[in-house]
Amino acid sequence: MIPDSTKQKFKQMLGEEKERLEQDLHGFTRENKAAPGGHDSVMEEGQLEIAPEDQAEQVTEFEKRKTLETMLERRIDEIDHALSIIDTDAYGLCDVCHAEIPLKRLEVNPAATTCIDHAPRH
Ligand SMILES: [Zn+2]
Repeated sequence: MIPDSTKQKFKQMLGEEKERLEQDLHGFTRENKAAPGGHDSVMEEGQLEIAPEDQAEQVTEFEKRKTLETMLERRIDEIDHALSIIDTDAYGLCDVCHAEIPLKRLEVNPAATTCIDHAPRH
């Protein structure tokens, strides 16, 4: 069982992290409800008029932003999920084996949904 005071602390950590991530996300995307994840990476105005030899570089930059956007959106989803279950008994249990996730692990990442054995490998 996780003490309520610890859950309160986790909620605050999650809320603050989410705010930071959303700021990052809004730094280079615009909201697009139709896009998967709700955002679109945008390039600066005028960047379409670039020399052909620079285009490959622009595409790479766009790909990088897309990757970052996906990472941020995925992390925000994890945080939302954690916040939605933090007041239930499901919080702090491994999604795979339903063992309690060690408190030390949750202190590092309150959005963790698996024990260390079942942590997804990135
Ligand atoms: Zn597990």
